[in-house]
Amino acid sequence: MENKKENKNIDFYIEEIRTAAEEFHINETRPLSYFIRTFGCQQNDNDSEISAGLLEHLGLEAASQIEEADIVIFNTCSVRENADRRFYGHLGNLKTWRSEEKQRRIGVMGCMPGQGTHNKHLKDTFPYIDFLLNAGDMGNLPRALYESRDQSGKHFIVDLTDQPKEMTYPSLPVKRESRHRALISIMSGCNNFCTYCIVPYARGRESSRDPQVIIAEAQAAVDNGAKEIMLIGQNVNSYGNDKRRKGESGFPSFAQLLKEIAQIPDLSVLRYMTSHPKDLSDELIEVIGQYETIEPHVHLPLQSGSTRLLKKMNRRYTAEHYLGLVQKLRAARPEITISTDIIVGFPGETEEDFEATLGLMEAVKFDRAFTFIYSPRSGTPAAEWEQNASDVEIQERFERLLDLQNTHSLESNKTCLDKSIYVLVSGRSKTDEEVFSGRTKDDRLVNFSVPDVSQLENEYAYTARGEAVTTVISEGSEVLVKVTKSKTTSLEGVFERLL
Ligand code: SF4
Repeated sequence: MENKKENKNIDFYIEEIRTAAEEFHINETRPLSYFIRTFGCQQNDNDSEISAGLLEHLGLEAASQIEEADIVIFNTCSVRENADRRFYGHLGNLKTWRSEEKQRRIGVMGCMPGQGTHNKHLKDTFPYIDFLLNAGDMGNLPRALYESRDQSGKHFIVDLTDQPKEMTYPSLPVKRESRHRALISIMSGCNNFCTYCIVPYARGRESSRDPQVIIAEAQAAVDNGAKEIMLIGQNVNSYGNDKRRKGESGFPSFAQLLKEIAQIPDLSVLRYMTSHPKDLSDELIEVIGQYETIEPHVHLPLQSGSTRLLKKMNRRYTAEHYLGLVQKLRAARPEITISTDIIVGFPGETEEDFEATLGLMEAVKFDRAFTFIYSPRSGTPAAEWEQNASDVEIQERFERLLDLQNTHSLESNKTCLDKSIYVLVSGRSKTDEEVFSGRTKDDRLVNFSVPDVSQLENEYAYTARGEAVTTVISEGSEVLVKVTKSKTTSLEGVFERLL
C-alpha cells in the first residue's frame, strides 16, 4: 500500500523532522539515530555523506551498528550483480528488527528504487520498507522521513521515485567519512547509454552543478583540513555540456573547473573520476600537464580493445582514438599512470575481439585495471543479446587478461623500487596495526612501517618534542616513504620523514 503524496517546501519537512527528533530525544533520553549502508561507486559514497550531513542537521546521530539505529538507509547499486545480492541479504535480515519498535524505519535510495523492475521487487518482497528515493535525491530525504512517520496504523511505503528531484538547496550539509579527503560531486546523471549500463536509467540525464558552489565546497574542505579532493561524476569530461546546450555559453568546461580548483592554496592532490575517452579534450590534457596539484593519474575506462565491440557497446570511440589519447596524456605528463576498466565476455565477443583487447593492453601497459566478466543488467539493450561464447571460454579469457594485467601492474610498481615517494596517509593498515597505509600522488597503494627511531635521520625532531614517530603520523599526514618492495597491487616501504 502507498500513501497519498503531500508536496510541501523542503523547509517545512526539515522543521517538522527537527521538532520530532527533539521530542524523541526528550522522551526517550537518547537521540534518534541513523545508519547508512552504502554499495557501489564513489557517487553513492558522496550521496551517503550528504545524507549523513542532512540527517545530523535534522538532529539525528550516527549509530555504530545497523541494529542499534532507528533509521536505516540502504544506498544501493545495480551496476554489479554482487552488490544487488548483498543488499537483498541485508534487507531480508531486518524484517524482525523493523517490527520490534514503531519508530524504526528502513529507507532505500541509490540506483535501484527508480528502476521499474527493482522498484516492484522491493515493494512486493520487502513490504516492511518505509520509503524509496531516487539516486542522488537527498533533498527529498526530509520529506520521506516526514511522510513515513508514525506507522503505528496500517503500514505504507512512501515511494518518492516518481517525484521531481528536490533541488532547492544547491549545497546540502555533508558529513565527510574522511578528514584528509573530500569527495565533491560536480554533476549527476549520464547521457551516454552504453548498452550494458544501467546508470542513465537509474540516475537520469547529465546535470552539472554550479561551478561557484563547487569551488566554495572545495575551498571549505581544504580550510577544514582536507589535503585531497576528488571531483566525481559519471562522466566528468562532459561537465557543463548540458548548460551550454541550453544557452549558458559562458559555463566553464571541466578543464576550466579543474584549473580553478588546482590553484587552491594548501591543496596537495586533486583527483577526478570518471573520464570518458570520447570527451577527453586537448584542453583538459593541457591542464593535466600544467598543474602539479592535479594527480599524475587518470582513470580512463577502455572496456574493450576491439573497435567492433566498442561500437556494440555504444562507447563512441575507436581503439585507435583511445591509443591516441594515451600518447597525448603521456606527452603532456610523462609520469602519469593510467588505470582502466575492462569487460570480458560482452555479448558477441569473439576470440578476435578479445585478442584486440590484449593487443591494446600490450600497447598501453596499464598501471592498474579493474577487470569484470560481463553480467547482464535487466533494462539495458545488451541484456537481450545472445552470448556466443561459453562460460568456460569466458572464464579462460578472463584469466588470460588478468595474467597479462598482473604482469603490467607489477612492472609499473617495480619502477618505484628504492625510490623515496610522497604518500598521503589514510590510516593504519586493516591487517597490521604496526603498518600505515596511504596513496601516492599517482594513486598507488602504499603500506609502510616506521623503523626504530634511532635509525631515522631526523629522529631528534621527534624525541626533542617527546613524541614517538608513530604518534605524529595519522590520517592526513604527508610523508616520504622509501619503497622496499613492489607487489602487483601495492608497494611496501619504510617511513623516512614527515613532509
Ligand atoms: S558513460 Fe557509459 S558506462 Fe559510464 S555511466 Fe554512462 S552509460 Fe554507464
